[in-house]
Amino acid sequence: MKILVINAGSSSLKYQIIDTDNEAVLAKGLCERIGIDGSKLTHKVPGREDFEKVSPMPTHKEAVALVMEAILDADHGVIASLDELSAIGHRVLHGGIEYTESCVVTEKVKAVIRENFDLGPLHNPANLMGIEACEANMPGKPNVAVFDTAFGMGMEPEAYMYALPSEYYDKYKLRRYGFHGTSHMYVSGETIKFGQLPEGRRRVIVCHLGNGASISASIDGKCVDTSMGLTPLEGLIMGTRSGDVDPAVVQYICSHENKTVDEVLNILNKKSGVMGMSGVSSDFRDLSKAESEGNEKAALALKAYRHRLVKYIGGYVALMNGVDAITFTAGLGENDGEMRQLVCESLGYLGISIDKEKNAARGKRMEISTPDSKVRVFVIPTNEELMIARDTLRLVKAAGLA
Ligand code: ADP
Repeated sequence: MKILVINAGSSSLKYQIIDTDNEAVLAKGLCERIGIDGSKLTHKVPGREDFEKVSPMPTHKEAVALVMEAILDADHGVIASLDELSAIGHRVLHGGIEYTESCVVTEKVKAVIRENFDLGPLHNPANLMGIEACEANMPGKPNVAVFDTAFGMGMEPEAYMYALPSEYYDKYKLRRYGFHGTSHMYVSGETIKFGQLPEGRRRVIVCHLGNGASISASIDGKCVDTSMGLTPLEGLIMGTRSGDVDPAVVQYICSHENKTVDEVLNILNKKSGVMGMSGVSSDFRDLSKAESEGNEKAALALKAYRHRLVKYIGGYVALMNGVDAITFTAGLGENDGEMRQLVCESLGYLGISIDKEKNAARGKRMEISTPDSKVRVFVIPTNEELMIARDTLRLVKAAGLA
């Protein structure tokens, strides 16, 4: 069966067509500058030349129409008719407290996505536009929403509640939600499968280290804790996000720099993290280069990044009373062997030992711990689109829609 996976942003729309029989990506692409002059679609099919089309896309509706044109085209298309498409899976940021799992889109689901606009102000409106554009262009085709918050909904109250007056939870559902959930779900599940972790030994820590970074602890695939909170700002140090800070920092900067709370939050989200600390870049390749050239701020940013990560891993080991596997994923987690090695060296107290040769490989699925390591360590490239396609297929089959 073929599933169209859509990840709609405010001015962009990424897509993939996945054949769920062999989990192959038949085509993928991107619509850029939706609602802005110079909109462009780029469509890639493995083994063929990339196809580009510059065409106005005032809204997501025109973008989806262009995607349909591209996938059905006689030259660069990958399906002969829309009948070949079983369903459409959508990445949706925030499902609020209503959705603990992916679900087939109904009017109620759309209403919940809308009700949670304030919790995902940049993403939820765009995600809904993506769904409505597909409904308008492909009437009758089932749509499935896969929520980035669903995995974090597995947390128990002691993990998700902030220690605030309880009225804020009662009134606003102000709590920790966690993000990157689709990635954590995929990678923790694949760790169990790939590592053949036996029942009773499935305590997994996933370090999703990309531009945004988060970490999760799960047992049998159920989330025990995860580092992002009400928004993706909480937790690890990231490319441009501060992660955890004392909330009083906000008030201090406001009064000393004459800024509003919104302005300071913008600084914490976009100008902090390793970029803010180093003044060099949010890209770890640039930071390593600067460190090797003697830049002390870059060196400190990298040290602080690892410090926070090791602290979270230790906390999660304690919460699960041990750990069976630690898995690294996303841009930095998949590619930066040195960072993995330094982090694992700090975890020597857990009996972790890394095979340096295996760890030198990049970007592929592998076990990097030695056979006598007390905790197994893996690198598993994340694949959120595949997770969305799998969930979409499972749900439309269960609902008798495909
Ligand atoms: P996102 O999806 O959050 O935008 P990615 O998962 O693609 O991010 O990760 C991007 C980050 O991965 C880059 O900012 C860069 O710092 C890091 N990265 C990618 N390749 C390497 C590498 N070879 N060595 C170190 N860091 C890398």
